Order: sequence, then structure tokens, then C-alpha cells
Amino acid sequence: MRDVHTEARPDLPATPGKFIVGLTGGIGSGKTTVANLFAERGAAVIDTDVVAHQLTAPGGLAISAIRDTFGETFINADGAMDRAKMRAQVFANPDAKTQLEAILHPLIRKEVERAAEEASAPYVIFVVPLLVGSDYWQKRVSRVLVVDCPEALQIQRVMQRNAMTREQVLAIMATQATRAARLAAADDIVVNEGGLETLVPAVERLHAHYLALSAQFLPRK
Ligand code: ADP
Repeated sequence: MRDVHTEARPDLPATPGKFIVGLTGGIGSGKTTVANLFAERGAAVIDTDVVAHQLTAPGGLAISAIRDTFGETFINADGAMDRAKMRAQVFANPDAKTQLEAILHPLIRKEVERAAEEASAPYVIFVVPLLVGSDYWQKRVSRVLVVDCPEALQIQRVMQRNAMTREQVLAIMATQATRAARLAAADDIVVNEGGLETLVPAVERLHAHYLALSAQFLPRK
């Protein structure tokens, strides 16, 4: 663990007095697994991927803007964004990616802030897969927690979890920050290369540390 930074940052938006940890890691590193272990111990976990999914689900707040920008053909009969079609579109067309992000990013930030404000847990964890490389999220959190494992293990887990080929996993990894860049940005690191018997104690140590830090983050009057 590095030195503790507990001072409130003047450049931050809302949620004064809430201690916020940004949890990140490459695909298959174990972000969700680790976030769930923190949640079981009482942290409030807000996952930007889950928020993005909700925004593009039937009745989601992003649907009308997506329909206006991309057309009805990107909306399924049930009212959700057609994910497979949109994935292909943004992969083939960088402008489409920019347009989609222009719709989603402000809504994701707003929803995350709303959820953080509502949270009554002692501290909040934002799960942000692409935190390293995002100036906004790096500034928004008080600490960066990186879930790390060797790349070979990431590849193996994702091939198994998503029934993907090695090449497909490598293509996704190529769009993410490098392992070295993530580790360089980390305040804390959870090494997730063994079983739960080593992961759980590592999470418990950090949880105790975050509880102690959050006690210094009392709301400003
Ligand atoms: P991420 O959210 O970073 O993509 P996940 O938490 O979904 O990663 O983990 C990727 C896959 O690897 C999942 O199927 C998960 O169950 C498995 N996994 C993660 N950590 C471990 C571990 N320590 N031991 C065994 N399986 C694990």
C-alpha cells in the first residue's frame, strides 16, 4: 500500500465527505469477483458496466438519444439497444464510438454520482474497467485499487467465461491500458492469481484499511 491520501480534492464534483475507491483491472483480472467480496463486507459497489447496461436496457435513459443518433435499427423489439449490432458498428467506425460515448458517458457519470450520494455504506467503490486512461475517473476517486493477475491467466479466464478464442480476448486486451500502466497508477493492488484462500484475506485487509480511511472523510459542514 502506498501513502495514504485522505484530503478532499477541491476539483471533485458532488458527494463531499464520501470516501471513494476506484477499482479497475484488465478484462478477466477478477474485478467483479473482488468487488463482490467488498460488497459482502459492507462497501457500496457501483459498477459502471452495470450502469451502462441499465441505461441501454428497455426503458433506459440512453435509448431515445441512441435511437435519434443511430436510428431505429439499433433498437431491439423489446426496446433495448442491440448490443451486438452496436458493438460491430463502433468497432468498424471510430466516429460511431465517439457518438455513443458522447451519449453514454455523461449519463453514466450522473447515475454513478446519484448512486454514490444515496449510498449509506461507510465507503463507496466505483468499478471502472477503463479507469486508467480516463482523466475524469482518475480525478474523481480518492484511491485507485488495481486487481492484477498475469496476462496468461486473464486470457484463460475470459476464454472460459465467454467462450471466446484467444485472439478475441487479445483484441479486447489491446483496447485496454497495459498491465504496467495500471500498476503504475495503483495506490493499492490485489493480486488475484490464486484461489479464494488468498483473495479473501487480501480483500479483508484492504477493507479494514478503507474503513479506517473513510472515518477521516466525514461530511464537510
Ligand atoms: P472481470 O470482472 O475483471 O472481467 P471476473 O471477476 O468476472 O473478472 O473474473 C473472470 C472469470 O474468472 C470469472 O469467470 C471468475 O469467476 C473467474 N475468477 C476470477 N478470480 C478467480 C479466482 N481467484 N479463482 C478462480 N476463478 C476466478
